[in-house]
Amino acid sequence: MVLYTPGRTSSYPDEPVKSGIRIHFLGGGNEVGNVGVVLEDQTATRLLIDYGLAPSRPPRYPSEAPPIGDAIFTHTHIDHIGMAPWLVGNHDTNLHGTTLTAALSGMMWKDTYKVSSIEGYPLPWDRRDEDYAKDAWKTHAYHEWAQHDNWRWQLHPAGHVPGAAMIEIETPTHRILHTGDIDTRDSPNTLGAKPIECDILLLESTYAGNEHPNRADEEARFIAKVVEVVERGGIAIIPAFASGRGQDVLKILHDSGLDLNVHYDGMGKAISQQWLNHPEHLRDADSFEAAFKWSRRVRSKSDRKRALEADVIITTSGMLDGGPILWYLNRLRTDNRCAILFTGYQAEKSGGRKLIETGRIPIYGHTVDVACEIDRFDLSNHAGHTELVNFAEACNPKHVVLFHGDPETRPILGEALEAKGMTVHYPNNGENVHIQ
Ligand SMILES: [Zn+2]
Repeated sequence: MVLYTPGRTSSYPDEPVKSGIRIHFLGGGNEVGNVGVVLEDQTATRLLIDYGLAPSRPPRYPSEAPPIGDAIFTHTHIDHIGMAPWLVGNHDTNLHGTTLTAALSGMMWKDTYKVSSIEGYPLPWDRRDEDYAKDAWKTHAYHEWAQHDNWRWQLHPAGHVPGAAMIEIETPTHRILHTGDIDTRDSPNTLGAKPIECDILLLESTYAGNEHPNRADEEARFIAKVVEVVERGGIAIIPAFASGRGQDVLKILHDSGLDLNVHYDGMGKAISQQWLNHPEHLRDADSFEAAFKWSRRVRSKSDRKRALEADVIITTSGMLDGGPILWYLNRLRTDNRCAILFTGYQAEKSGGRKLIETGRIPIYGHTVDVACEIDRFDLSNHAGHTELVNFAEACNPKHVVLFHGDPETRPILGEALEAKGMTVHYPNNGENVHIQ
């Protein structure tokens, strides 16, 4: 299946920019994930920031990117980086990001390719594009200016996951900050993002209108639940995303000082190893390494069987859509002493959402009952509503562009920012926001 007709399926306008900054969302404007945004000014200087896909069923792709020489990637979650091989294969684009983003990208693409093959969904790029993309990286340290035609730009820590970046861009007329995904709160493996003064703030708005519970209280509630499950003879089964949440959970458990037998399975292990190869991106690399080594990494079928005697199993996929978690659930689902502890967002139509709503889950083609206790914890790595408002205020922009948000809740954040004197824009996919 051909998803794009090159040069004809892009929403990107042909007209040159006469003045100011044109901001065009190929995806991720009025939706969470699926991000891609092109910035351009009257000198025809142009940058693409992120180019991902939404791993829904079927996946959603952003509109076709126009020819672009350089793209900057904020982090390696698939909704921000999933379409980079297409860019390299079709436009020979240079990919820019932190060393850790570059190091993790190949693993994320390989997994995306595997999932699309298993599930029979078409992908607009192939293994050859993936190979080209791995060679197309130009890596950057935080706080180092890079020149791009008439603009210069630099990366700042975004707090969301290790290696994640915000992008500050200086054009002859404007100072722009693109947040990528941010968290301004400290979390087990990253320190919170710090505000940067700018004229135009492109602000992710995943948690617009939603507040997080106190992080320390939520971690304590999580630990207490794990202890309760283990004391009654069950296993705490923790589905966790490979890049970020699994490692956070591991560190929370290790830091608790409890004598727990924790087994760690899935792609998160290889990602953790890359984290340790780039320790400068971690909040406390020594302490993360201690947590990683403390866990029993599952490497073989016999390891997996041994994990059925564990206190805690942390594994992928975070939304119960494939991965080792289904193998474990298939064996443990009838044991009501066990508990499934969700620590992340469960997308519509995902296995996790079905389990929460119906108590049943499809495993290997059969929908089955699950007797385990189910609980949910907010260990999010996105800034909540109040954090977003405070961050925006400290950046002191004239204009705020709210992207990566639910169109229903985005206005709640927008109104809070307008009340503080900022002009707020609500981009839709395929439309321009033009700022003078
Ligand atoms: Zn992310």
